[in-house]
Amino acid sequence: MSEFKAADFYQIDDLFTDEERMARDSVREWVSAEFMPVIEEHNRAGTFPADLIPGLGEMGVLGASLEGYDCAGMSPVAYGLILQELERGDSGLRSFVSVQGSLCMYPIHTYGTEEQRQKYLPKMAAGELIGCFGLTEADFGSDPGGMITRAVDDGDSYVLNGSKFWITNGCIADVAIVWAKLDGDIRGFLVDKGTPGFSTNTIKNKFSLRASVTSELVFEDCRIPKANLLPNVSGLKGPLGCLSQARYGIAFGTVGAAMAVYDEALRYAQNRIQFDRPIARFQLVQNKLVWMVNEITKGQMLAWRLGRLKETGRLHHSHVSLAKRNNCWMALECCRLARDILGANGITDEYQTMRHMCNLESVITYEGTHDIHALIVGREITGENAIE
Ligand SMILES: Cc1cc2nc3c(=O)[nH]c(=O)nc-3n(C[C@H](O)[C@H](O)[C@H](O)COP(=O)(O)OP(=O)(O)OC[C@H]3O[C@@H](n4cnc5c(N)ncnc54)[C@H](O)[C@@H]3O)c2cc1C
Repeated sequence: MSEFKAADFYQIDDLFTDEERMARDSVREWVSAEFMPVIEEHNRAGTFPADLIPGLGEMGVLGASLEGYDCAGMSPVAYGLILQELERGDSGLRSFVSVQGSLCMYPIHTYGTEEQRQKYLPKMAAGELIGCFGLTEADFGSDPGGMITRAVDDGDSYVLNGSKFWITNGCIADVAIVWAKLDGDIRGFLVDKGTPGFSTNTIKNKFSLRASVTSELVFEDCRIPKANLLPNVSGLKGPLGCLSQARYGIAFGTVGAAMAVYDEALRYAQNRIQFDRPIARFQLVQNKLVWMVNEITKGQMLAWRLGRLKETGRLHHSHVSLAKRNNCWMALECCRLARDILGANGITDEYQTMRHMCNLESVITYEGTHDIHALIVGREITGENAIE
C-alpha cells in the first residue's frame, strides 16, 4: 500500500502547535505501520484487532484528554487529531478509542468516586481493562430517556433488569457503564464482567464497522454493589455529557476517513489511463476531486475551531452537533465520489473506500443521527424544540 499523503490544501498545519502535530504524526505512523497491514483481514473476518490494544495504551491514546490516573492529559486539539489519524485507518479503530476514553473513562473520571477512579482509570489507560457504554436499547435509540432498564435499591446492592442494544465493545469489555432508571431517574452503574445475571451477545452480520465489536447487554436480576453507582450525576445529562465528548472526537475522526479516501481517489485518478490519458485530466473527474478537497478543508477548519473553543471553555454542545453532523455527511459524500472515481475497482476491498463508506453509515447514525443533530442546532438557533 502506498504511503498516505494527508490533504492540507489551506496549510492548516500552521494552526497547530508542535505538541499537536507531534501527537498526530506519531499516531499517523503507528496506523500506517501496525494497523493498515491487518485491517483488510479483520474487516473480512468481522473481528477487532484486539492484539493492538496494548500498543494503543503505550501511545497514550486511551483517555488521552483526561488528567491524572496515568492518562496523557492531551490538549483538545491534540486529542482530536489523534482520532483523525485513527479513523484514517478505520472508523472501528476510532470507535474503540472513543468508547474507551470518552464514553467510559470520562464518566468514571467526571461522575465517579475517587475509589472508582483509582480502580479503573490507570488500567483502562493502559488498555488492560476494556469498557463499554450501554445507553441505547432496542426500542429506544434517539429517545434514550424512554429506556426501560431499571435498577432497584435492595439493601447493600442494586438489582438491574433490562437490556442494551448496539453496544460497541460489549462482548470484549471488562466493565460496562450502564444507564438505568433508579426511582425514575437515569443513573450510571459500573457492571463488571462476570457479575451473575450479566451476559452479552454479539450482533453479527454487519455490513458496517465490521472491524468493531457490537453487542447486546442483558441484565437479569443482576446484583451489583452500591459502590458501583456513579454518584455525581443523575438524569439524561449524565450520558449526554459523555456523548458530547465522543461526538467531538467524531467531528475530527471523520475528517481522517475523508482524507483517506481522497488520497486514494487522487492517486488512482493520476494513474488510471482511459482514452490514452490519466482520468485526472478529465474535467468531470477533477470536479469530484475538487469537491472533496473543498469539503475536507471546510471540515478541517470546523474541527480545528471546535478544538479551540473547547480549550478556551466556550464549547457548547450544539457546536459539537454542527461539526459532527457536517463532517460525517462530508466524509460519506467523499466516499461516494471516491468510489465513483475508482470505477469497478472501488467495489473491492483491495481499496479502502468502500470499507470507509460502509463504516460511515454507522458513524452518521450513532451518537445522534444526522437529523437529530440538525434538530439540536435548530433548537439552539430558534429557541424552539422540534425533537419531541
Ligand atoms: C455500529 C453501532 C455502534 C453503536 N454503539 C453504541 C454504543 O456503544 N452505545 C450505545 O448506547 N449505543 C450505540 N449505538 C446506538 C446508536 O447510538 C443508535 O443507533 C442511534 O442513537 C440511533 O438510534 P436508532 O438506531 O434506534 O434509530 P431511531 O432513533 O429509531 O431513528 C430512526 C430514524 O428516525 C429518525 N428520528 C428519530 N427521532 C426523530 C425525531 N425526533 N425527529 C426526526 N427524526 C427522528 C432518525 O433520525 C433516523 O433517521 C450504536 C449503533 C451502531 C449502528
